[in-house]
Amino acid sequence: MSDELERKYEVEIQTSEDKQKISKELKAELQDSGMMDEKGKLKLKGVSPKMLKRMKQEYVDCPVLKENTQFIQCFVCPNFQSRVMGKVFCKGDPLK
Ligand code: SF4
Repeated sequence: MSDELERKYEVEIQTSEDKQKISKELKAELQDSGMMDEKGKLKLKGVSPKMLKRMKQEYVDCPVLKENTQFIQCFVCPNFQSRVMGKVFCKGDPLK
């Protein structure tokens, strides 16, 4: 029953200089799940504004999608398990 057994990847979180734009699709997804208000402001439980700002500059080289993926996108991904010491623990299941 351990999550650890399920985890397939530990993906390093990288930082870019620029704030990355959140796509329309991701916005809709975040709003649907209550993680963003109508004004487009992110509201993640237990995440400070400072941390949020940093999160917007982060991305991972996603081993499933095989492309750079915004951390925010990764955070809401069904494969996302947790974030520990600058790494994402990722289940690694195929994404549609
Ligand atoms: S959690 Fe999702 S987006 Fe993040 S690395 Fe894994 S498959 Fe990619």
